[in-house]
Amino acid sequence: MATSSIRIKKVCEWCGKEFEAQKCSTRYCCKRCAEHAYKDRKRQERKTETETKVIETIIRQKEEAVCRRDYLSVQETADLMGVKRNAIYQLIYRGKLKAYRLTSRVTRISRKDIDDLLGTSLYVRKSKAQTSTTDENGEIISEFYTTKEIIEKFGVSNSWVFAQGMAHNIPKVYHRGKTLWSKTHCDRVFKAKPETPKEDDWISYSDVRAEYNLTHDQLHNYVKYHGLRRKKVGKYTYILKSEIDAILRPPTLK
Ligand SMILES: [Zn+2]
Repeated sequence: MATSSIRIKKVCEWCGKEFEAQKCSTRYCCKRCAEHAYKDRKRQERKTETETKVIETIIRQKEEAVCRRDYLSVQETADLMGVKRNAIYQLIYRGKLKAYRLTSRVTRISRKDIDDLLGTSLYVRKSKAQTSTTDENGEIISEFYTTKEIIEKFGVSNSWVFAQGMAHNIPKVYHRGKTLWSKTHCDRVFKAKPETPKEDDWISYSDVRAEYNLTHDQLHNYVKYHGLRRKKVGKYTYILKSEIDAILRPPTLK
């Protein structure tokens, strides 16, 4: 066997003595040291293995204990479901999972609610978009305006669209973060541009307040929030009766 003439100075990783090796990869000065090191390595491996098993057992026992408990913390719930804590909070905030706040630091979630949630949250592939709904007679509506289109077409404010939508129960769907309103209903409710109001259409603030039992501020807030048209005559403010009625009158079926 040909031996290399190269001599490399090394320190034995077991006994710490200096020695001359023939290969860079040699780690021990002699067979004995190599054997000791090997045995020591094996011993370490067995130790790690045992420790891992113990930790796994402890975790399993904890999990089993958690499973048997009726109420869990947010962290335990997250562990149980294999998700991050934040995901659990999202479920709580969205109202999908009930959580009970016992103190500012202690929140508990019922085991049963978790099981119920899993039981009802069957994954269903979302249809590409919800672009149809039915009207009050069960007829399918498939033509819609966006809120922006209504604002442009009918010259009304954003809040007015929603106020009228609510007052007249205009069928709507949500599509990619936008509200879509039934075209035929909108055409009926908003007509074209509002006509110039007649003198009789106006009603004074005080008359509205009397009719709906409102404070001045309450009425003023309605008017501002919904962008109602108003006019001032002397020190009196007038608004359109039809507009305030649309907001404050209880909705009726049309
Ligand atoms: Zn050695």
